Parts: sequence; structure tokens; C-alpha cells
Amino acid sequence: MTPIYDPTDPTYRDEADTRREFSRTAEVCFGCRRCIDRCDVFPRLIDLVERFDDHDPGGMTPEEQDGLATACLHCGACAHECPFATERADRAVDVPRLMLRMAAMRRHHGHDGWRERVASRVVASPSLRDRAVASWFGLSGPARSRLRRRGVTPSTGPTSRRVLLVAGACPGAHDPQTVGAIGAVLAHLGVEVSVARVRDCGASLLHAGELDRFARRARSNVRTLADELRSDDSLTLVVLDPVCLDTLVEASRRVLRNGESDDPDASLVAGRATDGSELVRELGATASAGRAAAVGTPSIAYLDGCHPAVGRAWPETLASAGADVHVVADGCGGCGGWSRRPANATASIGRIHRLADAVHGIVDAGGVVVAGCGATVALLREHHGIEAVHPLIGWARVAAIETDPPVAPPS
Ligand code: SF4
Ligand code: SF4
Repeated sequence: MTPIYDPTDPTYRDEADTRREFSRTAEVCFGCRRCIDRCDVFPRLIDLVERFDDHDPGGMTPEEQDGLATACLHCGACAHECPFATERADRAVDVPRLMLRMAAMRRHHGHDGWRERVASRVVASPSLRDRAVASWFGLSGPARSRLRRRGVTPSTGPTSRRVLLVAGACPGAHDPQTVGAIGAVLAHLGVEVSVARVRDCGASLLHAGELDRFARRARSNVRTLADELRSDDSLTLVVLDPVCLDTLVEASRRVLRNGESDDPDASLVAGRATDGSELVRELGATASAGRAAAVGTPSIAYLDGCHPAVGRAWPETLASAGADVHVVADGCGGCGGWSRRPANATASIGRIHRLADAVHGIVDAGGVVVAGCGATVALLREHHGIEAVHPLIGWARVAAIETDPPVAPPS
């Protein structure tokens, strides 16, 4: 059997086909067990399969499969360095994509309860008040003036580059102060920043299995972004949150494919989108030279978060600015499920406690905690009082960049 992870394939939401693929994947993971401590899904899977004398996951009931699928926080961690990744193994698996397929299949066949259906729509479509706030803060003309007042655009000195910034509008997006500080750092580096006029990336729709609505959101986002990118060949698209970046680039490209052909707008967006790490490293090499020595060698705990393959250049960028970087290979899974299912909220908060334990030593020693994901930042603050900053702010602190508004130096 060939794995089907292509959302445009006619069998993608076929129940029997999806469940067979689930069993095949479960058999590979049961033998491998490398992800046993990644999340709750794998230990539960192993317990379920060990009940059978022949250890055949095909004996699991649909309800048991669904229980595992709905426990997934869509953090993407199990695909990272999986020896059975689709491009390098005969018995190929991709658990995060399988879980998205399971969600789409379940939603398509009406297997989710009404509470889940309603909750995912609320999360994906904020209230009018939330929309007004989001639009005021990040997505419209008033947002531009507000950010301009905070020094985001235009930059004050001679500009060398132009950036189109996707700040996000989902519940886990970075707060406006963070976005303002990031704009100030970029302006300091001579970058002119404008804010992309897109709605949120649609990850919450994707994770809930709302495939058709996600496809509409993806289409609207990539059209808007592609129009802006085509208007200026020198524009770089910087997406602040790794989940948004993965969704706008990878998931949107997959869902908009037409047979063997990529959607041209999605290809353009994918080719020009970045998390900003390379840009900062390139522009900041001179700015940071000699400054790291002035503040010593700050320790940074870098939380590589969900979708760890995204944003992987940040540790190197932070190290090249003079930081002693400790990578914490874990994510909270916050935006993948905590807002929809109480059990997933508990699992996500458990992972926040794990992250807090992992950074404890660096926090106590006065180091900086860095996380690209706005949900991780918010949950660490809420549950442990730990202040984490976006990697771009962390980089500015290490490089002792002085901005208005100021970016505080490492303590
Ligand atoms: S996802 Fe990959 S690495 Fe993890 S248990 Fe399954 S086969 Fe092993
Ligand atoms: S995506 Fe994350 S939560 Fe889901 S199965 Fe993989 S490691 Fe577990």
C-alpha cells in the first residue's frame, strides 16, 4: 500500500483506506518505538497493540484509532528524524500527516461531536470583537499606522531590504508589543517592513479536519501574498511563527496542488518565505561584531517547538551573534488542540511543565529563553512566569542592538 498524504487525492478522506493506512503506520511505529516519549499517543498505541497475541494493530477498533488520532496535538515532533520518513524508507510513514488525514476523514464523515465542530469553528473564526482587535493590530490600514507609530515602518535610516511581515492573527500569535519590537530591530538593520494583509494561516482549521474551509483560507492567503510579492521582486516574506510558516508554505501548497502541478501562487510564496533567521544573520553580521564581547556570552535556551524542521537556522544565527545556545527539542502542541479538547489542553500544559523544567537552569543563571511560537511564549508566562522571547528579539539582545522601543539586554 502506498501512503496517501495528498489532500487532493480522491481517496484522502475515504474511511476504509484511511483506517488501513492508520493500521499500517501503527505497525511500523510499534516496531520502532523511537517516539515513545514524544507524546501520549505512542505509549497508548503500544498498550493497545500489546493486547493482541499477534501484535497486529489491525485489531484496533475504529473508536480506539480515533482516540489516538484525537489525542494528537499536531506538533510534528515525531516526523523529525523519523527513520521511516516518506522519502527515505520502503515502509514509509508520516504520522503528523496521517493524523491530519484522520482528522479530515473524521470531520468529513461526521464522526466528531457537536462540541468539537463548534469549538473548531469558533477558534478559526474569532468573534467580531476579536476580528476588530486582530485587524487593528495586524492586518489592515489602521494596523499599519499603529505599527508605524511604534517604529516598524518606514525604517529611519537608508533601507537595504524590504520585508513583508506575517505576524499572525490566531489565538497563539505573538502579541503586538513583540511584533512592534521585531519591527524596530528590522528597521535598525535598515529593513523596510510592511505588514501582510492576510488572515490567520488556517492551522486551526487544518488541525480540526476542516479541509474544505482550510483550502479556501489557504487559497485566499497565498493569492494575497503572491500579489504583494509580485509587486516587488526584492521583497522577502518573513513569517514570525513556525506553525504559521509551515502552514502557509507546506500545508497550503499541498492542498492547492492540481494533479502533479504546484499552484503557481503557492510556489511563489514557498520560494520567498522565511523565518527571518538568514536575513538577520546576513544583515546583522556587522552590527553584532564586537558587541557580544561587551555583554559576555549570554546563554540561550532555544525551544525548537512544534514543526522542528521549521526555523532550524535560528540556533546557528544566535550562536553566530555570540550566544551559547542550548537547543530544547520539544514543543507544547498548544495551538494543535488545547483550545478544542479538554484532554488535549491537559496534555499541552503537561508539555509546558516539561519545557519549564528544561529551561530552569538557564533561567536561574540569568540566560534568555527563546521560542518562535507565540502559544509557547504565552503558556510559559501563564503557567510558570517564565518570559520567553521570539528568536529575533533574542538575537537583538545578544547583539546589543539599540532600538526604539528598546529591546532589553540580557540580564
Ligand atoms: S513516527 Fe517514525 S520514529 Fe516515531 S515511532 Fe513511528 S516510525 Fe518510529
Ligand atoms: S504530531 Fe506530535 S502529538 Fe501528534 S503523534 Fe506526532 S509527536 Fe505525537
